[in-house]
Amino acid sequence: MTFILLLIIGPTLVVYGSIQSVLQTDYSIKLRGYILDHSAISISILPQENETWWEPSYLNASLHGINQWNDALQDFARIYTDFSYLSNVHLVPTVSHELVSDFDIYVVFRAEYDNERIIGETITTTQTQYTIENSTVYISVKAPSGHIMTEVDVQNILVHEIGHTVGLSHSNYSRDVMYPTVYYQKTVKPVSSLDLYALSQIFAWMTNSTQLSSSIICPEKSVLTMPSNINYVYAQIDANNLPVSSPQNLIESAIESLLRPEPLTLFIVMVTLITSTVIILKRLRKPQIIF
Ligand SMILES: [Zn+2]
Repeated sequence: MTFILLLIIGPTLVVYGSIQSVLQTDYSIKLRGYILDHSAISISILPQENETWWEPSYLNASLHGINQWNDALQDFARIYTDFSYLSNVHLVPTVSHELVSDFDIYVVFRAEYDNERIIGETITTTQTQYTIENSTVYISVKAPSGHIMTEVDVQNILVHEIGHTVGLSHSNYSRDVMYPTVYYQKTVKPVSSLDLYALSQIFAWMTNSTQLSSSIICPEKSVLTMPSNINYVYAQIDANNLPVSSPQNLIESAIESLLRPEPLTLFIVMVTLITSTVIILKRLRKPQIIF
């Protein structure tokens, strides 16, 4: 069964009643209008090992999600050399057992959130009009529907919320990791070239400078569309950053994929074709009786 829930950014609560159908001719993403004034971004992850609802896989999911962003930034900076400065942007995770100050991002888990439909949230405090002081990402491990987050769910929520902590708002494309609603699914969502292009604009102050000066203007809260010279593609996810699937899970997902309408049709067509071929071949091989 598939559920849909909403991921939000702190104070801006926008609730969609259902998934919107968007014309995909124009991929776009909103910017929050905030920037970080440095490129080494420190993240403190606080595991809740004493809580009954805590799963060690949530920590793996967080570290994998952070690595996903780091790899995607490197790949994008290498391919699109105009934005090579993005290779300096990197997220540095630390696993903390108590709240320590001076991190850029705090990742906090909680049992569940009292607001219906919300499973991830980012609260950002600002230093100046547009520079980020720090952000706290809250991830609820239990949805109001009763769904318990899997390792994949936590990774998908974390990647989305990390996007908010570095200045991204939401994408208009439902398959983008920055889309405001998320399906519980069995696969990890990749970062897209749209998300990375938006980051290249947020960190554009790094083009000729290693330090943010007062003369640099922050990209305002606005909508960015994909430039024509960049295709909408997904960053590859390294196998080390994917959850480990047990053989049982593989069998379960194979059965589930067969039960989905389109593969089921394909499966029936293939079985029919194979059966017909076998019958025809058997008939051909049978000794023919001539009267
Ligand atoms: Zn969001």
